[in-house]
Amino acid sequence: MNIIVLIKEVPDMDKVRFDSERGVIDRSSSAAEINPFDLYALQTAVDVKNRYGAQITAISMGPQRCIYSLQDAWARGADDCILLTDKAFAGADTFATSRVLAAAISRMDYDLIICGEKTVDGDTAQVGAETAELLNIPHSNYVDLINDISDGYVSLATAELCGKKQSRRIKLPALISVNRTIAVPLLPGLKRKLDSISKEFKTLGLKELSESITENQTGLKGSPTQVAKIIIPQAEYRSAAIFRDNPDIFIDAVKAVKERISAYE
Ligand code: FAD
Repeated sequence: MNIIVLIKEVPDMDKVRFDSERGVIDRSSSAAEINPFDLYALQTAVDVKNRYGAQITAISMGPQRCIYSLQDAWARGADDCILLTDKAFAGADTFATSRVLAAAISRMDYDLIICGEKTVDGDTAQVGAETAELLNIPHSNYVDLINDISDGYVSLATAELCGKKQSRRIKLPALISVNRTIAVPLLPGLKRKLDSISKEFKTLGLKELSESITENQTGLKGSPTQVAKIIIPQAEYRSAAIFRDNPDIFIDAVKAVKERISAYE
C-alpha cells in the first residue's frame, strides 16, 4: 500500500508577526515547524504501516526551507519525502495550493492520502477536500478511527458531527483528513533524528508539473481569493483576578464577575 501524507510547514503562532498592510503572515519573523495537526496524519500513516505494511511519502508545498520539516517527517516515520517548490507557487490561496498538490500526486501511485484536520495558520480545512476533488477521488474529513483496510476499501469512523458519529466504507484510492483523537504522535528516535539532518529529497517545480498545471493556475496568479485585510483582535478586556482565602469564595467570585461585566456595559 502506498500512503501519501500532506505536511504543511507553519510558523510558531505565538511568535509570528502579521503584515496587516499586505494581508500576509510575515513568515520570516519566527521559526517554522510541521503543522501540529499534520503530526497526527503522519502518525496515522505510521500506525497503518505497522498494521498492514505500507510505503509512506510525505509531500509539502512551500519554500525551500520546508526541507527541514520534511526531514523531521522522515525522522518521525516517512519513508520518502517530496518538496513542491517554485517561485511561481508563492502567494497561493487554498485552491492554488491544492492544484499543485494534486498535480504532483496525479503522477504517483497511491492508495491513501492522509492530511491534517486543518492548519494553525491558515485554518481553513479546505486543502484536503479540494485536493481530493481535483484528483476525482472520494474523501472523508474528521476521521478519528481506521477500522480496517482490505479488499480495496477503507472502513473508518468520523468524529461526532452534529451529535452523530458516522461509520463509512470508502473505495481506495481515497483521501482522509484526521483529527487529534486518531493517534498519539510519537517523538522520533535519536538515531533517526540525527540521520534525518543529512537527508535529501526530491523537489518538483512548475517545470516538472507542467503537464498538469500552468503558471496561471498556481501562486498568486492562480488564486481566486484575496485577503482584503488582516485584523489582530485587541485583548483590551482581558484581565485576571484570583479569589482565595475566603469561605464564601464562589459567591464573592460571582459578585465580582457581575460587577466587572456591568463596568463594561
Ligand atoms: P488547511 O486547508 O487548513 O489544511 C488542511 C491540511 O491540508 C493540512 O493539515 C495539511 O495536511 C494539508 N496542507 C495544507 N497546506 C499544505 C501545503 N502547503 N503542503 C502540503 N500539505 C498542505 N500563504 C503564504 O505562505 N504566502 C502567501 O503569500 C499567501 N497568500 C495567500 C493569499 C490568499 C488570498 C490566501 C487565501 C491565502 C494565502 N496564503 C499564503 C495562505 C495559503 O493559502 C495557505 O497557507 C494554504 O493554501 C493552505 O491553507 P490552510 O493553511 O488553510 O490549510
